[in-house]
Amino acid sequence: MSNPTIAIVGRPNVGKSTLFNRIAGERISIVEDTPGVTRDRIYAKGEWLDHEFSIIDTGGIDIGDEPFMEQIKQQAQIAIDEADVILLVASGKEGVTDADEAVAKILYRSKKPIILMVNKVDNPEMRNDIYEFYSLGLGEPYPVSGSHGLGLGDVLDEAVKHFPEDSEEEEDPSIKFSLIGRPNVGKSSLINAILGEDRVIVSDIEGTTRDAIDTKFVGQNGQEFTMIDTAGMRKRGKVYENTEKYSVMRAMRAIDRSDVVLVVLNGEEGIREQDKRIAGYAHEAGRGVIIVVNKWDLVKKDTNTMKEFEQEIREEFAYLDYAPIIFVSAMTKQRLNKVPLIIEEVSMNQNLRIPSSVLNDIIMDAVAINPTPTDKGKRLKIFYATQVAVKPPTFVVFVNEEELMHFSYARFLENQIRKAFEFEGTPIKIIARRRK
Ligand code: GDP
Ligand code: GDP
Repeated sequence: MSNPTIAIVGRPNVGKSTLFNRIAGERISIVEDTPGVTRDRIYAKGEWLDHEFSIIDTGGIDIGDEPFMEQIKQQAQIAIDEADVILLVASGKEGVTDADEAVAKILYRSKKPIILMVNKVDNPEMRNDIYEFYSLGLGEPYPVSGSHGLGLGDVLDEAVKHFPEDSEEEEDPSIKFSLIGRPNVGKSSLINAILGEDRVIVSDIEGTTRDAIDTKFVGQNGQEFTMIDTAGMRKRGKVYENTEKYSVMRAMRAIDRSDVVLVVLNGEEGIREQDKRIAGYAHEAGRGVIIVVNKWDLVKKDTNTMKEFEQEIREEFAYLDYAPIIFVSAMTKQRLNKVPLIIEEVSMNQNLRIPSSVLNDIIMDAVAINPTPTDKGKRLKIFYATQVAVKPPTFVVFVNEEELMHFSYARFLENQIRKAFEFEGTPIKIIARRRK
């Protein structure tokens, strides 16, 4: 479920972000048209020889006002904490510097595999200059050129060799979920409160290589859950939480590993820009989403308060219109016993399969209410629809021409499907495909 992770470290200007972009290629995630989502270029997915992996550019994590040397040391520490394989980047143009040595020293202390890349080796003649890098004590240096895309294959071949074995995970029937949100919205308190409530904790599963701790527990009606720790949140505390990029990256990693994501808001403070970004990642990833408004005990309420807050959420997170909203308090435990039940419901919805006959009835009825659009005198024809996947439920609609399926009509079809089956908590996808 969780991808192996590569982290790039090294002093500024050696070419880390150039290499990151090369390795991630087109697969840097995040679709731009999701409101509130800005491209985040420190975390992406990559692929090499059938291996999928995640890649982190630690150079993009800026650690506040720390002095330069302190910053790169902390970035190296983050790489050790997060990665399965570390790529240390140096520059063949400048040769070995004090800063390279400082980073290498920190990396020695970890047992993680480290691959030394000497970047900016733009032509074969420069390959002779890389021998001095043996002095870093990290083994064979790999000459590469980020700007020309040279040498990366050898590095990735080597990296892949160090990926943890796929432990042929047995079908794990538990529902995996995580809590994400800004610092101080109450994630840790909620985790403790949810785990504290009369639940049997089955085990703390040590993350294979990271220091994340996932917790398995059994809900009241026997359903198993795995709570994905947001990369060491429970164990390590909040050392880096004040670094926004780092916490965003952690959130993205937790989302990757979850079936259902609980987006936690602070009821007392209301919705902030950062909440929207975080919620955008969850939506983008196609996971189930539940919006949890915490600290409800602190909110001065009258009869309309909840309705108004709900309305505000619907406006600010318009793209999450499928997500249920629940108002809770980690402190008084108000409504917390409902949380596992809602997660279970969302999980069921994600896995729902609609028989083709029923689906096609819904589509035909939809077309009868609202005729298909035309463009330049041509009308969209829908022949047949079928569900091709779950998590999220994905429907292929066979048509005469894909281009005629406008966004708004796909949206209409989605709404009609939701009217019949609800699919609360899960995004659904509609793909138009030309009938051959
Ligand atoms: P970072 O600070 O380590 O992330 O470094 P950047 O990726 O921002 O690159 C720093 C500078 O080095 C930029 O001007 C890049 O264009 C340049 N650069 C990166 N890779 C190469 C390379 O392979 N060859 C050369 N000649 N320049 C490079
Ligand atoms: P995190 O950074 O998102 O993990 O937030 P924490 O769980 O550490 O909570 C931040 C602060 O809010 C702590 O002082 C908590 O005691 C407090 N807090 C969390 N949940 C609630 C709540 O439901 N009600 C009240 N009154 N305080 C809360």
